[in-house]
Amino acid sequence: MSKRLAICPGSFDPVTFGHLDIIQRGAKVFDEVIVAVFNNQSKSPLFTVSERIDLLKSTTAQLENVRVDACDGLLMEYARDKGASAILRGLRAVSDFEYELQITSMNRKLNEDIETFFMMTNNQYSFLSSSMVKEVAKYHANVSDLVPSEVEEALKGKFKQISEG
Ligand code: ADP
Repeated sequence: MSKRLAICPGSFDPVTFGHLDIIQRGAKVFDEVIVAVFNNQSKSPLFTVSERIDLLKSTTAQLENVRVDACDGLLMEYARDKGASAILRGLRAVSDFEYELQITSMNRKLNEDIETFFMMTNNQYSFLSSSMVKEVAKYHANVSDLVPSEVEEALKGKFKQISEG
């Protein structure tokens, strides 16, 4: 049987414990997971795609069946080119639902052979998002229980760089 490959797409600006929880659990269910980093300019990212990829690579290094890649095209085309059978997304609060429903319906229209799977967030990360982490880190508050230490350091570096102009 061919390998079951899932694509886990997102902005990951930056990766949080919530993302890592989904990636780790996904890696147990699928043979292989590709974390695909999108350059979503409309979200005015703090980190460049290559910085986000480096942080994801170092924080998922222990997961042998997880790879990290950049993607700037259409997700469903990327997934088809890689031979993926699934898209993996995380769901937090009810507020995620409507948005995810819209994208999933559109993606199914584009390619009905690739299924989207949702994993419920771990309760402790229900209210955790990259935007919240950035907001908190900007004011130098402690984010050590929200992101891995290398991400915490990267956030400090970024805000220092910004404040020094
Ligand atoms: P996007 O810009 O596509 O929303 P994100 O980087 O914000 O990308 O999120 C990528 C994926 O990780 C999404 O499926 C999102 O729902 C999921 N996710 C983000 N934060 C959490 C969390 N705290 N718990 C579970 N899933 C999460």
